[in-house]
Amino acid sequence: MRRASTPESTKAERIRANGLVNSRKQSGWFKPPTNCMKCGVRKPRLDSHHPDYSKPDEVVWLCRSCHMRAHRQADFLAGVNPVRVTDQRFAPSPSALAAGQGGGE
Ligand SMILES: [Zn+2]
Ligand SMILES: [Zn+2]
Repeated sequence: MRRASTPESTKAERIRANGLVNSRKQSGWFKPPTNCMKCGVRKPRLDSHHPDYSKPDEVVWLCRSCHMRAHRQADFLAGVNPVRVTDQRFAPSPSALAAGQGGGE
């Protein structure tokens, strides 16, 4: 049985995915956007949401209320393209990029 819209995720996958995002943020490699990617509201702090935990580097940045709805409503984020925490557009500087690069998997 396969479901395309809501992939099953294991706890290990979630921890790994969130760890990747946090380490990218902490190392300064990745700068999260300041506006919710769904409703556009500006927040000092946005939640990172993984639409697919099998792609740990793909994240949608959401305000709290959009994040709650994204988990309740499977198609809520239809049309919102996730950003990649490894996307160079979000890297603050080339030197930080080189320092933050780890081994691939
Ligand atoms: Zn929002
Ligand atoms: Zn989420």
